[in-house]
Formats: sequence, structure tokens, C-alpha cells
Amino acid sequence: MGVFQQMNGLAPPFRATAAAAGQPAAGQAATGQAASAPAASPESGPAAPAPLPGHVRAAIIGAGLGGIGAGIRLRGAGVTEFVILERADSVGGTWRDNTYPGCACDIPSHLYSFSFAPNPDWSHSFSRQPEIWRYLEAVTDQYDLRRHLVFGAEVIRADWEPGPARWRLRTSRGEITADVLICASGPLSEPSLPDVPGLG
Ligand SMILES: Cc1cc2nc3c(=O)[nH]c(=O)nc-3n(C[C@H](O)[C@H](O)[C@H](O)COP(=O)(O)OP(=O)(O)OC[C@H]3O[C@@H](n4cnc5c(N)ncnc54)[C@H](O)[C@@H]3O)c2cc1C
Repeated sequence: MGVFQQMNGLAPPFRATAAAAGQPAAGQAATGQAASAPAASPESGPAAPAPLPGHVRAAIIGAGLGGIGAGIRLRGAGVTEFVILERADSVGGTWRDNTYPGCACDIPSHLYSFSFAPNPDWSHSFSRQPEIWRYLEAVTDQYDLRRHLVFGAEVIRADWEPGPARWRLRTSRGEITADVLICASGPLSEPSLPDVPGLG
């Protein structure tokens, strides 16, 4: 988590519920997806899939902690022409996909969160999966990343084209080119089941 803790100085602190709802990103309505909301799992994803642009300055693969953090950093650097390509239908990565009973972080929540978006309302020192997922949904909204997200877009292949000096990505939703490719597909995003009879 060190890399996330190094992303400083981009915006006011994340505040669950009241502040998140009271300070939506410019031009965007508050979503009500807050870290202290009682629901077990957030509803997420855009109402209609965004079209895949032909070319972008940067393409990010994955909308887990890494991809969200990269997107926030790009926005903070003034880069607005980028997409976050996510094969699933919501953000969260690890914290969207692992829902087993008792699933929680094993690093204290105040450290297992973006340094620029602290959450003073964590309900546990080691928060449970639904709460971490809601935090990521809320940060996504607070930093106005939804416009960059393309869900249901699995990156199947990435080729560097030396002539035009760009990446050509083949995705399950078509092709796209990008000057910069940021891979945030996660080291643990592919399940690795042990070879135990009855599993898998
Ligand atoms: C149960 C569990 C508990 C954990 N607890 C901790 C903890 O306490 N502390 C800690 O530091 N770490 C913990 N980890 C590690 C955790 O994986 C990282 O902390 C972090 O969440 C990884 O974020 P990420 O964005 O790199 O990857 P991920 O969260 O895996 O996100 C990757 C995203 O990329 C998408 N993706 C993958 N391939 C493609 C593709 N080809 N095209 C499009 N999209 C793609 C995936 O769908 C996913 O949404 C835990 C992991 C698990 C599984």
C-alpha cells in the first residue's frame, strides 16, 4: 500500500456520508454511496456503457485500488483524456470480487486507504470487505472518475506500435489506442484455486 500512501495533496479528505454527499465533484450529483452506508454491497456502474473512444492520452487497465489511484493522479496532473478499462461491471477489484464471510483487510484501515482521501468513519480498525468496497465507490465518485470508466471491457491484447509511438489495445469492446498504458490489472485478480477435490 505504500504507493497509495504516497499520493498526496490532490483534494480535500474523503468524508463518508455527509461530506461525500455534501461535496460532490463539480458537475456531478452526489451518489449516496458512502463508507458508512449500511448496505452489504454497493450497486455500481454507469446506467449506460460509455462508448470506447478511438484514441486517448492514457489507458488504465483495471479499476481496483491501483487503477482508481492512477486515474486520480492523472486528473490531478491535468490529464483528462484517459479511460479506465475494467472487465467487470463495477470498480473495486479485490474488494468487489472477494465476498467470503469475514473478508477484511489485514492492514489498519487508516493506512489501507488513500492518503489524500482519509476516511474518519471506518467502523473497524481492520474494515470488512463491503465497507472497503463502498469506500472505493465513494472515492470514485468524489474524484469524478465515472466519466473515464469503461466497464465490461476486458483487455485481451496490448501491442506497442513504434511508428506512431502508441499502444494498440484489443478489448472485448473493440480496439483503442493510447499514448500511455498503465497496467493496474492486479497481481491477485485471477483466482488460484488449490488442487483439492471438490474445489473449482
Ligand atoms: C481477500 C484479500 C485481502 C487483501 N487484504 C489486503 C490488505 O489487508 N492489505 C494489502 O496491502 N493488500 C491486501 N490484499 C491485496 C490486494 O489485492 C491489494 O491491496 C489491492 O487491492 C490490489 O489492487 P489492484 O488495483 O492492484 O488490483 P485488483 O484489486 O485485483 O484490481 C485489478 C482490476 O483489474 C481488472 N482486470 C484484470 N485484468 C483485466 C483485463 N485484462 N482487462 C480489464 N480489466 C482487468 C480486475 O477485474 C480488477 O477489477 C488483499 C487481497 C485479497 C484478495
